[in-house]
Amino acid sequence: MKPVWFTTTLQHLHKFDMDEFFGSGIGWLVISSMFLGREKYKEFFGVDSYEQTLKNILMLIKENEKRKKKIHLNFSIKTTGEPDETVVNHPDFKLVDGLMGGKVLQGFKNTGFFVDDWHGAVKLPKYLHKRPLYPRFFRPCRILCERMIVYSNGKVGLCNCRDFEANSDLIIGDISKDSLKDLWNSPKHAHLINDWRRKNITPAICRTCRHYVY
Ligand code: SF4
Repeated sequence: MKPVWFTTTLQHLHKFDMDEFFGSGIGWLVISSMFLGREKYKEFFGVDSYEQTLKNILMLIKENEKRKKKIHLNFSIKTTGEPDETVVNHPDFKLVDGLMGGKVLQGFKNTGFFVDDWHGAVKLPKYLHKRPLYPRFFRPCRILCERMIVYSNGKVGLCNCRDFEANSDLIIGDISKDSLKDLWNSPKHAHLINDWRRKNITPAICRTCRHYVY
């Protein structure tokens, strides 16, 4: 079985049985969080879950240690525009970083400067900067060549990042009628990639997408 990975805040980890969690096939996690106290957490994440989330993170680190670091843990540290020194000197940051052997600090240094506004769906606060709209002439987004998604209504599409309503030209079939293998090898899938690569015909949803992966 291939390991599963995903990004999570861990806000609800306490609702899960740890043996089940560790036995579920998760290979690595990216923990999106901040360690600047309750008010800052609420400001950034929009929920009053700082204490519970911190407890969950500490519990996960401890349980992971018990299981010989079965899950590879990475951190994506958020801020609300504070200077770096403020972030890394917060006692909670130091606590978690100490338990993680410096990986939280490493995650903080690696966190990108730009973020996405999800096709305008999210109004960004001033301290976050929108990712530039990189040129994409004749270079299909890598996501088209690597992934497929099955939506809850059965539609099958190629981008799980921006096609929120499953109604773009990246929808290539329906799981109730088509096999995933057939859809992956379908002329429609090939055309979307080849039209972009050879004729510079870019799917409408991809033209203004700031998540474009080159
Ligand atoms: S350009 Fe954007 S919408 Fe198009 S496949 Fe890439 S991530 Fe998805």
